[in-house]
Amino acid sequence: MARTDDDSWDITESVGATALGVAMARANETASDTPLFTDPYAQMFLDAAAARGWRPPTGAMAQRIRAIGNYAASRTKWFDEFFLAAGAAGIRQSVILAAGLDARAWRLPWIHDSVVFEIDQPQVLRFKEEVLAAHRVTAKARHVAVPVDLRQDWPKALRDAGFDATQPTAWSVEGLLPYLPAEAQDLLFERITELSARDSRIGVEAFSAGFFSEDHLARRREQIAKMRAEAAEAEDDMPDPEQLWFIEDRPYVPDWLGEHCWDVAALPSDDLMARYHRAMPADITEGTMATEFVEGVLTEPW
Ligand code: SAM
Repeated sequence: MARTDDDSWDITESVGATALGVAMARANETASDTPLFTDPYAQMFLDAAAARGWRPPTGAMAQRIRAIGNYAASRTKWFDEFFLAAGAAGIRQSVILAAGLDARAWRLPWIHDSVVFEIDQPQVLRFKEEVLAAHRVTAKARHVAVPVDLRQDWPKALRDAGFDATQPTAWSVEGLLPYLPAEAQDLLFERITELSARDSRIGVEAFSAGFFSEDHLARRREQIAKMRAEAAEAEDDMPDPEQLWFIEDRPYVPDWLGEHCWDVAALPSDDLMARYHRAMPADITEGTMATEFVEGVLTEPW
């Protein structure tokens, strides 16, 4: 089903189910011989979703989740390190945007008195809290759920939930930007910047510079069509990511942040994976993982 400007979803539907896909990748990594991190809660979420009728991806889709496993693991590790470094620098307030089934508030060793705000759709956050509560898992920081759509007035919801804009904040934008229209992405970064005190930090999984070139988009479409055709031949279901993503050209995130007082560094995803001695299977790298990991520090208030 195509996206609309005010669509919403439960954990097993539409964009919500992508959070289960990421949890599946984290569960796979956790169960592997030499994991980059362990997330003991990822499998709990999958089991709970299955108990509610969710059918885990099989065949081609499950294979695809395995194939991007090294990317997903490197991404998780990078954001884990981002938050640990922010804590080591004395930042005690974090905001995880589009938190999905991110369990960092429950699994990272947060410094004393840390607070972690999580923003996502109400039904997604409710599912996560219910599963963790059922397993009597308690957060390792003060956890505050902020159930709101990121296309709505989330800064108000965040402030109402106790967010303190005078304190430096660590913000994460992981697995989110493709699900936002171009204008909503600009607005997201404007709002983050407005809410950020000096020395705030931001970590972003962003589209690479050439992502929206005609040439790249054509190669990407071709590759996705090939994967879907192979899946169909094997009578497997592989959803079309174009149905969930907003493929709209938008500002290159490092440039946007750099122009708004953030001191930024960007790391292409291949370089990030190389850092962890990981790589993508050669046949699916092209066109599908053209992202960069962008880290910024606000040098002066905007
Ligand atoms: N960041 C999490 C992670 O890496 O595990 C979840 C990533 S998942 C691919 C995408 C998440 O973005 C989903 O949990 C979805 O509900 C959330 N999301 C996408 N668009 C959103 C919006 N407009 N408002 C709130 N949440 C949104």
